[in-house]
Amino acid sequence: MNHPTVGEKQAWSSVLEKIKTKIASEQFTTWFTNLRLIELNNHEIHICVSNLFCKEWLKNNYMDIISSTINEVTNLDPNVILVAENEENISKPEPFIRYTPTLINDKEHIYVNKNYTFENFLVGPCNRLAHAAALAVCESPGVTYNPLFIHGPVGLGKTHLLQAIHFQVQHHSSQYRVSFLPCEAFVNHYISTIKNGNWDDFRNMYRQIDVLLIDDVHFLANSQSSREEFFHTFNALYSQQKQIVLSSDCPPEEIPTIEERLISRFRWGLIARVDQPSLETSIAIIQKKASLLDMNLSYETAYYLAENIPSNIREIEGSLINIKKHAFLLGNTKIDITLAKHVVHESLKKERKYIGIEDILHTVTKHFGVQLSQLHSKRKFKSITLPRQVAMHLARKLTRLSLEEIGGYMGGRDHTTVMHADEKIKNLKRVDRNVSATLRKMEKELIK
Ligand code: ADP
Ligand code: MG
Repeated sequence: MNHPTVGEKQAWSSVLEKIKTKIASEQFTTWFTNLRLIELNNHEIHICVSNLFCKEWLKNNYMDIISSTINEVTNLDPNVILVAENEENISKPEPFIRYTPTLINDKEHIYVNKNYTFENFLVGPCNRLAHAAALAVCESPGVTYNPLFIHGPVGLGKTHLLQAIHFQVQHHSSQYRVSFLPCEAFVNHYISTIKNGNWDDFRNMYRQIDVLLIDDVHFLANSQSSREEFFHTFNALYSQQKQIVLSSDCPPEEIPTIEERLISRFRWGLIARVDQPSLETSIAIIQKKASLLDMNLSYETAYYLAENIPSNIREIEGSLINIKKHAFLLGNTKIDITLAKHVVHESLKKERKYIGIEDILHTVTKHFGVQLSQLHSKRKFKSITLPRQVAMHLARKLTRLSLEEIGGYMGGRDHTTVMHADEKIKNLKRVDRNVSATLRKMEKELIK
């Protein structure tokens, strides 16, 4: 496909400028700012959109505006063809170059954090099983727990453990070929292989590995064909007694769209969950992280942080870095509990802003360009269902309203509908990073 000419690009930006004047600015920002012109000719205009979700939404809601504006600006009446980013990449492998076969071993350092070792991993009741199993895997890969499947909420050390295995095997059992990679990289590599046809390279590469560590396998939910390929890779490795270690933000059976045969493969070995750390474990982790950050932290301050930032370790680490920055800005002032309280208090203040259902409804109607009355109505059109589900999800997440109360605000829906909507959007967020980006944008707007 040709690249657009300068003239075509100019025409396209005039089209966008004009569309901007026709719809609310929030809608424009949400749906139009990431569009990219691929080609424009008398018969067709190809526009790249960030994902299938946006493509559907634009198709169902903005096609008329897009077509008529193109006609107004160019006097042409081309067929409008929307192409989702991933679809386009099937015929354009360039963006995936960093995941091509030869790179898996020598560029692994892109993904690997040298601090994610067993030495830096603190063990408590929340992660004891996962930790013990990870160590056992290093002792005798492919023998004891195969596959090892570690799951749990974000920020609780899954990636850290997988990389610790990587480090340990690489440094202490160098006869084994070990590879760590995010599942997204596997999927992208698979997609680029569809294009370049190097199936031998693809298959040989994965199938020669002795210890394969794949992080965030819930990402497989995105693509049925890569699940298929993953299944074959899994079988090939497993039948040769090669070790497979997987992590995910949920147990195998909760990965959306995943087939039973893959679930059952994941269950063949050991499934270990990581949980929120107890107060004692959090304190120990905070002290460890502080020492890695070269910070002198008293037990009292570590205790205060553990008690006040209970959600996950990544956030605690973020706060430590914030405290360090504050101390530096204040002229390398001593890090003590007063400073920690000040920094934490500031961030908690932001989090605790009151958000009402009216704010949520306002934001959702603005972003999706729907009427409040439509959200309340009993109609089940797809174009209304999605915004309504997003509103219910945001209400669950950001308010203290009960399921029944939220249902009440959404045109008298019952609590199971709200629960279902919440789950649906959570899953969508998990499999589609642009959806999660859009939702984050709305949340940010609500919280600020
Ligand atoms: P996940 O992959 O589960 O989302 P990560 O492995 O990325 O989480 O962990 C987030 C941060 O928390 C990392 O900096 C990691 O080192 C740290 N962390 C999590 N659990 C522990 C632990 N038990 N001991 C030390 N650090 C931990
Ligand atoms: Mg992770």
